[in-house]
Amino acid sequence: MPEDRTTIAAVSSPPGGGERGILRVSGPLARGLLTRTVTVSAGPLEPGPRGAFPGRFHDGRGEVPALVLWMPGPRSYTREDVFELHLPGSPHLLQAALDRLLRLGAVPAEPGEFTRRAFESGRIDLSQAEGVLELIEARSLEQCRAATALLAGGLSERVAGLRDGLEELRALCEASLDFDEAEAGHVPIRELTSLGEAALAGLAEALRWEERRDSPRGRPRIVLCGAPNAGKSSLHNALVGAGGALVSEVAGTTRDGVEGLWRLAGAAASLLDGPGLEEGGPAPERAAQRLAEGERRAADLLLWVVDSSAAEPEALSRERASHPEGTPVLLAWNKIDLPGAPARPPEGLLASLDVQGWAATSALRGEGLDGLATAAAAELALAGAGRGGGEGRGLARELSARHRQALERARAALAEGLALLARGAALDLVAGALRESTEALDGIAGRTTPEDLLDRIFARFCLGK
Ligand code: GDP
Repeated sequence: MPEDRTTIAAVSSPPGGGERGILRVSGPLARGLLTRTVTVSAGPLEPGPRGAFPGRFHDGRGEVPALVLWMPGPRSYTREDVFELHLPGSPHLLQAALDRLLRLGAVPAEPGEFTRRAFESGRIDLSQAEGVLELIEARSLEQCRAATALLAGGLSERVAGLRDGLEELRALCEASLDFDEAEAGHVPIRELTSLGEAALAGLAEALRWEERRDSPRGRPRIVLCGAPNAGKSSLHNALVGAGGALVSEVAGTTRDGVEGLWRLAGAAASLLDGPGLEEGGPAPERAAQRLAEGERRAADLLLWVVDSSAAEPEALSRERASHPEGTPVLLAWNKIDLPGAPARPPEGLLASLDVQGWAATSALRGEGLDGLATAAAAELALAGAGRGGGEGRGLARELSARHRQALERARAALAEGLALLARGAALDLVAGALRESTEALDGIAGRTTPEDLLDRIFARFCLGK
């Protein structure tokens, strides 16, 4: 760690005050700052090995009870000396405490600077830093899981394993160069090929993993809802069937939901069909309901299917009230082909249901589907704009695309190497292709990531992270 590093400090608990507020400090002055500001019963705190100490923090005017978490480097998040002060959650107290630390020589941390230091010290790699970012931004449980997997080194671990395999293969190729076929040091082409094929399979698997991870947050999610028999499944089939594909099953339910790709103008969305809104029922059914509820909450848009031939204002109001708050709702006024079904919802009903858009459809005859797609695309665009232009999402998508590109490049280079091997080309050409493959993988761990992309990644973090 260079000697001229600053010591950074920031409030790292969420703004607005809570039960406890947290100040985080990292850098060479950390130890001295603790000694000068915190007392324990025996006098000034003399931080020793890693630990937690109850004490009192002195902000220059008064003192407050504080819990100190002391994490000397290199066994800390940034690998520098780090401490956290857990103080009563008053914003004024926190500010006073921070001011005191700044007066004593700490500098205010930039957003994401702790994580950036963790990255720069090699404590975490870029894909893990992205995991932290995604975790901060994650809105649904599923996104949280994906982010946590990333943070736990999901992709990095996979990539590290693959990289080792490729390096070993390259070393074997290079070593083999010096021997004739009959000599002991010669590795048979058969063996090199089978190692290469194993690595290729590993790359394909990593790519699939990354694609799965990306889909819940990269692609907008539209969730079908509505009473049983309203026509949700039929509409799902009609919308996804044409040009789309079933992409996954929502596991763990007795009445499995299905997810399909709905091609909208300019983008594709995931369209999920889950169990209906029946209440009660046996336990597995309730578990399925809870899952469906989670899906509805995480949705970017709800597609509410209503049987127009049997629409009752009171029942519809109740249904509407059960939708998660704040999620835009698009109404599909379905089954308009049935005799006696009104071609459009009555004006008063529409107003009272407070939906963001609607379209009349017949899932059976495939009518009104374009109108529905247009309305959905418009709603998603609006919802995206409402979230501040979706910069965070855009960046997350860009990063994920970068991972996939890197994996694709690694795979292409390895495939090239295997083709050369099969053609009996010189082993140094094969080794060259393998080197290219490893270099592509290095982009994922951030070994070769351009500085400006790093700046943008870390700028997305909240202060104190
Ligand atoms: P879900 O329970 O909401 O998924 O409803 P389904 O898609 O299973 O549909 C329930 C019934 O309504 C089935 O018999 C469908 O064939 C029928 N249905 C769905 N959409 C339409 C439609 O637009 N017109 C007509 N006439 N029947 C429909």
